[in-house]
Amino acid sequence: MAEKIGFLGLGIMGRGMARNLIKAGFDVTVWNRTAARVDEFVQAGAQAGATPAAVAAACDIVFVCVSDTPDVEQVIFGENGASGGLSAGKLLVDHSTISPQATKSIAERVNALGARMLDAPVSGGSEGAAKGTLSIMIGGAAEDIERARPYLQAMGKTITHVGEQGAGQMVKLVNQILVVGNMLAAAEALLFAQAGGLDLSKALSAVVGGAAGSWMLSNRGPQVIARDWRPGFTIDLQQKDLRLALTAADSMGVPLLGTSMIFNLYRTLQQQGLGSEGNHALVKALEHLAGLEIGK
Ligand code: NAP
Repeated sequence: MAEKIGFLGLGIMGRGMARNLIKAGFDVTVWNRTAARVDEFVQAGAQAGATPAAVAAACDIVFVCVSDTPDVEQVIFGENGASGGLSAGKLLVDHSTISPQATKSIAERVNALGARMLDAPVSGGSEGAAKGTLSIMIGGAAEDIERARPYLQAMGKTITHVGEQGAGQMVKLVNQILVVGNMLAAAEALLFAQAGGLDLSKALSAVVGGAAGSWMLSNRGPQVIARDWRPGFTIDLQQKDLRLALTAADSMGVPLLGTSMIFNLYRTLQQQGLGSEGNHALVKALEHLAGLEIGK
């Protein structure tokens, strides 16, 4: 029998994910810090929880998708946090991208309440969240993943058990190192094409299906050409993920030369007040260096 599902955090990602759970016919209770965001879910058939604690008390499995490590800690252990409703037999699934190290200690605290926890960060952007095609990388126990699988399948297409608690977050950072490298390559290539006087859309369609293709190039390349900086994923959150990757790399003694350069390019954009633009606005940092703008 389907379990009662809670969803905490209805931002760009959580919104699409919760919608897909409701669409799949599950019994869903939602909560969001900014309460106005809950209304459309109630209209779609969900129940509204008053606090994370109330949602956790009323539900068997609680999914979380908020911004950063302190936010997950706040939603779970803060005032009226989910921990107030977590007890033996309950399962917490964290879809946020946060510190792998902090995840291990959050999981220990959740386990100490008798509840279980999976770290299950996602990839696939706002598009993947809306379409239910996310890649979900999961750290934790196999039996907990099997229990959550029907719900994960409503939100994602590729569900991979990658190791113990914390391993999901480590793999997500692997993902982010790849994402920003691909974005830098796409931005640099488009700027080069612009300098060469090429038709950018034609150049993009000529290369996107070949060996140079990437999700960033196909999805964000056209947005760069159109100078459409609306975020699927913001610069501020991208910067947060690179900080997590660089902190983990530092603790392991691994140099990440390219990633630290991109981290600093993003920082220049944050300093210009562009943190809420999409992460593909990385191209603007290169434009400033080149004294050249795409589409101009
Ligand atoms: P977002 O649109 O900025 O939404 C953030 C959500 O977290 C909102 O619901 C916000 O509530 C809530 N929140 C933040 N701090 C909180 C706190 N202290 N207490 C309670 N709620 C809090 O971000 P998003 O793009 O959905 O990203 C969510 C997570 O998914 C992040 O960890 C991100 O790295 C990860 N992610 C994002 C993408 C993407 O493409 N967007 C892809 C993969 C993974 P309010 O509505 O009140 O602000």
